[in-house]
Amino acid sequence: MKRLLCLLLALCMVLSLTACGGEQPESVQLFAMDTVMDLTAYGENAAAALTDASREINRLERLLSRTIDTSEISQINAGGAVTVSEETASLLAQAQTYTAATDGAFDITIAPLVSLWGITTDSPYVPTQQEIDALLPLVGAEHLHLSGDTATLDDGCAIDLGGIAKGYTSDCVEAVFRENKIESGKISLGGNVFVLGGKPDGADWRVGIRDPQDENALAAVLTLRDAYAITSGGYERYFTENGNTYHHIIDPSTGYPADSGLLSVTVVAEANGPDFSGPGNGTMCDAFSTALFVMGEERALEFWQTGGYDFDLVLVTADGRVIITDGLSDRFEVVKDSGYTYETVS
Ligand code: AMP
Ligand code: MG
Repeated sequence: MKRLLCLLLALCMVLSLTACGGEQPESVQLFAMDTVMDLTAYGENAAAALTDASREINRLERLLSRTIDTSEISQINAGGAVTVSEETASLLAQAQTYTAATDGAFDITIAPLVSLWGITTDSPYVPTQQEIDALLPLVGAEHLHLSGDTATLDDGCAIDLGGIAKGYTSDCVEAVFRENKIESGKISLGGNVFVLGGKPDGADWRVGIRDPQDENALAAVLTLRDAYAITSGGYERYFTENGNTYHHIIDPSTGYPADSGLLSVTVVAEANGPDFSGPGNGTMCDAFSTALFVMGEERALEFWQTGGYDFDLVLVTADGRVIITDGLSDRFEVVKDSGYTYETVS
């Protein structure tokens, strides 16, 4: 009898494990687009969703990377009129829209200057003013001509989607998760986070905002569901020479790494939702996090108030403040003893 009871109990445990199999997370880590990516999904299709998402990320890297010779972006950079996929054409058009919206602070034609500084290469370099001045005229949305599915660059110009590709990729992963009927998941593509639904226990996802001055510390925590939270920061890629630090976000108006008084910008917006394809809020958050980092606190907040786009912000300033826009006030936790002061703006 006792043995039968044990057997029954064991059977129940197996059944309940299977029953809550949907609650077990599947996770995968991959290196793509020059960064570490972590993907987690819950639910019975979680494994399939992660396989599809990884494949999608690799497909997008092959399409959009300018360091892969066969990508459509490399073909455009090689010169001449290039016929591109509808997907690339619409992403480029969206990038142009964000360039116009941010008064040129976000600009994919920044590529010649990114190459000159070599910040993402093994041999970064501080260029002379003369070298910078020689390339500045090549930067500007007017140098990229889009007509239907044909893209053409003016001579000497090049494009770099580094400031937008991971955000667009997160839009595509949202779509892949939804196709696989995932209701709970979280991805982090470098500093780009997307959360789908809430956690399986119903709680919000906790998304840490890194302390730009300490890689092991957080400056704040956001509690989010169905949202993008995309961060740009000088700490992500930089080099030091003669005591000066040079990071990877270039101010298109000067040709130098942006020196706007901000250490990081996080842009938060809601998920795209079902039946959505194409550049969405992930792309927007990525473009704006780069742009607002260039703009600095005052212009960034003005853009938030008047720019006509729906998003919220967390700014970390060099003088030790964390500024939160009021849409996040009930989704925000301060970090005790972080050394920062916290301000909410409306
Ligand atoms: P993010 O981390 O999204 O801010 O993107 C930074 C990357 O975008 C850099 O590594 C460059 O490849 C590229 N980039 C740098 N400055 C700009 C800019 N002002 N506008 C658009 N892309 C930029
Ligand atoms: Mg960006």
